[in-house]
Amino acid sequence: MSQEVYLTTPIYYVNDVPHIGHAYCTLATDTLVRYWRKKIGKENVFFLTGTDENSQKTVDAAKASGKDIPEYLDEMAGIWKSTWDQIGVSYDDFIRTTEKRHWGVVNEVFKKIHGKGDIYKDTYVGKYCTGCEAFIKDSELDEHGYCPHHKRPPQLLEEENYFFRLSKYQDELIKWYKNQPEQLMPDSRRNEVMSFIKSGLEDVSISRETAEFGIPLPIDPKHKVYVWFDALINYYSALQGTKYEHFWESAQHIIGKDIIRFHCVIWPAMLMSAGIELPKNVFAHGFFTIDGVKMSKSLGNVISPLELSEKYGNDALRVGLLSSFEFGNDGDFSLAHFDDFYRTKLSGGVGNLFNRVITLFHKLWDGKKPYIEKSQKSGEGWEERFSQALEKKRVKEALDVFFEMVDACNRHINDVQPWKLDPPDARASMNKLLTMLVTLTDMAEVILPESVVKMRKMLGDDEKVGDAEILFERK
Ligand SMILES: [Zn+2]
Repeated sequence: MSQEVYLTTPIYYVNDVPHIGHAYCTLATDTLVRYWRKKIGKENVFFLTGTDENSQKTVDAAKASGKDIPEYLDEMAGIWKSTWDQIGVSYDDFIRTTEKRHWGVVNEVFKKIHGKGDIYKDTYVGKYCTGCEAFIKDSELDEHGYCPHHKRPPQLLEEENYFFRLSKYQDELIKWYKNQPEQLMPDSRRNEVMSFIKSGLEDVSISRETAEFGIPLPIDPKHKVYVWFDALINYYSALQGTKYEHFWESAQHIIGKDIIRFHCVIWPAMLMSAGIELPKNVFAHGFFTIDGVKMSKSLGNVISPLELSEKYGNDALRVGLLSSFEFGNDGDFSLAHFDDFYRTKLSGGVGNLFNRVITLFHKLWDGKKPYIEKSQKSGEGWEERFSQALEKKRVKEALDVFFEMVDACNRHINDVQPWKLDPPDARASMNKLLTMLVTLTDMAEVILPESVVKMRKMLGDDEKVGDAEILFERK
């Protein structure tokens, strides 16, 4: 069977609009998707994103906006979808957890787990953070007794819940992670998850009696399926009953490290219980600060991806975000750095390079190409390094290879000054540059999906280069 890749982003809560943290994760995934489409063919790759809607947060946000819930959900899901469309996210499917197709599969999965004897009813007394939509242990609270992520006190809850026997899967999970060290990346995250599992797993609540909105529990409809239990199933439900079902065997989840326990402990245990194959890989990226400070509404430092895209373009948004720090690490984003990156690497780097080389061809030989050989490689291993980085999901490393190559070309022009050489040497020098531009354009198909159109036009046909164009306007 040919190789297949199924990549997913987290599904996002619709109680707010996308910020660049969401765009960062989604564009990184989209870049990996574009790499695989180019390598193994479009038909062998599937890319899913979507929205998480069955949440109390949504109900609260709908009430605050004065709209009824379905109207609010449609409007917000529309904003997420159109944002991804506008910034060039090439998803194959966009799932909303309020869709019928999803509810049906949640019911099926629930029944399988119930049939296995892994669901029981009990009274839960505990602390619940509405921000996390999760119960929180005393040991996890900060020094004020607050949720460390949301900086507010949890609610004390006592209610009848249905529980999933997560504890039963402790040994099986440990064994599974031991046998498949590649399953969870980066390594630091795997160590964190392993020590969490080994510290002892407790059964988890999977229903809410008090929830106003959500999927009714198939065995007791006055309860609603707990939002996380329902949301995780989206990755599986999106494919069910479609011609894409077979992609499930190739699933890879891209997530943020804050949701790692759901994806790397609860989700695989749910699948083990339901007798469904487990995902091939989970990759957790790090946290994001803006000029060293956490992005938050109250601090007023939230940046919209649409603003950056309108000012600098989609390609700049993508590579500017993704080259800030390596995917998988924590890191910082700054607008000053982004602007500098745009000027030096895009406008002054790759944009200038293409313009210079094509202009030179017109000056020296009326645009005629000096070589006949096609599909040469640059011979310096750039392509291999670029591919290897992306196969390990090291997105920044791949971008660095691209811009290193751009710098090498610009250096070559400055050092060699082909226009001063004898015709045979000039031809050899320009031939080398053109070969490198072909490689850069192949890479650009993955990382600069909009500019690549102009780049291809500039490279021209077998005989002549095209007209010199501006790839990135000076700002
Ligand atoms: Zn919280």
